[in-house]
Amino acid sequence: MASIPLNECCYRLNHLDKSWDIETYMANGGYEVWKKVLAGELTPQEIIDEVKASNIRGRGGAGFPTGLKWSFMNRYAPGPKYILCNSDEGEPGTFKDRDILRYNPHQLVEGMMIAGYVIGANTGYNYIRGEFWEPYKRFDQAVQQAYEAGLLGKNILGSGWDFDLYTHLGAGAYICGEETALIESIEGKKGQPRFKPPFPASFGLYGRPTTINNTETLASIPMILAKGGKWFADLGVPGAGGTKIFSVSGHVEKPGNYEIRMGTPFKDLLALAGGVWKGRKLKAVIPGGSSTAVLPAEKALEMNMDYDSIAKAGSFLGAGSVIIMDETTDMVKALDRLTWFYYEESCGQCTPCREGTGWMHRVVHRIYTGKGRPEDIDMLKDVSGKIMGRVICGLGDAAAIPVASFLEHFEHEFRHYIEHGCSIYDRA
Ligand code: SF4
Repeated sequence: MASIPLNECCYRLNHLDKSWDIETYMANGGYEVWKKVLAGELTPQEIIDEVKASNIRGRGGAGFPTGLKWSFMNRYAPGPKYILCNSDEGEPGTFKDRDILRYNPHQLVEGMMIAGYVIGANTGYNYIRGEFWEPYKRFDQAVQQAYEAGLLGKNILGSGWDFDLYTHLGAGAYICGEETALIESIEGKKGQPRFKPPFPASFGLYGRPTTINNTETLASIPMILAKGGKWFADLGVPGAGGTKIFSVSGHVEKPGNYEIRMGTPFKDLLALAGGVWKGRKLKAVIPGGSSTAVLPAEKALEMNMDYDSIAKAGSFLGAGSVIIMDETTDMVKALDRLTWFYYEESCGQCTPCREGTGWMHRVVHRIYTGKGRPEDIDMLKDVSGKIMGRVICGLGDAAAIPVASFLEHFEHEFRHYIEHGCSIYDRA
């Protein structure tokens, strides 16, 4: 494996002592872009143009171009507008944003300030996953330090611009990572997704125009503006600029977060993580978090870690959460666990998701516990197919995709359970 550049953007300070402190951040160029913005050296349109030139796409899972998203907001429309950061990172396999909050929170604070300025929002909220107590405290401390340094609040540095930033701790519901459920939750309501349209850019928090970006996306902004959109774009591949943090978990020697360049071969990422543990062979990979399609080893080993390459292999980059499965993995057991998760987390608003997630879990569990019926495979295919595209939010698809992809690539393991009542690894 060639040596791979690491930690060039969001994790650039993580190796430093007290990297989360404002002194460390400012000693390493922190808040310089914000001061330029306040001094009028960068206009909102110039910032949008630079972000578009960087080719950054949303890092939360959907991969929507960030510059284009910002351009949907009318900065000069009268009345309040909001910038929201989605730090609700709750999908199995995801844990990259947690380390931005813990080790480089000021870069996120600065990114939120800049985004707020661009869209004309004087208020921002960072919605942090309820279980992230330490990251929450680190981010909140960074916000307080920024206020004390006069970088947040009223008439910041005499610019005439006001910006207040709040930290909001969630209560542990996965669905609150969906942007409109997140908005409902901040408003103090039950966290359930809204019908769309209207989209948040026109009807968001408190019914006002709102932009929501992922933690990694917003934390990348100060570096994009400090070094230029072209610098960021050139780190990646055409159509997807920059670095990307991949959370590698499962059967590897060194699980963890790796910030590498977009388009790095999967083989190199696997080698960075120490390779498959215990000297075993790779069996399968979920490349983007548990809601993305599982890929057999032969496909994963040929792909690069960028949107197009992973899509060509048959899955999604998602949030960049790479789950490694070794040659001993029981795929029926793995799907049993995943279907339970989505069943538990469905908010229950739409019938296909509310009923379908439970139905899929009960059938997979029946197979796993040795009571499967020959018709179960077709039933799973039918139910998962009838959820996709017929629900309000992405959770329905997120629940159906693993079922469809596990059956596409590993149907023989399900059939073995049905015929023999045990895994292909058990001696019947
Ligand atoms: Fe709720 Fe599922 Fe419908 Fe999303 S798809 S709104 S989680 S019931």
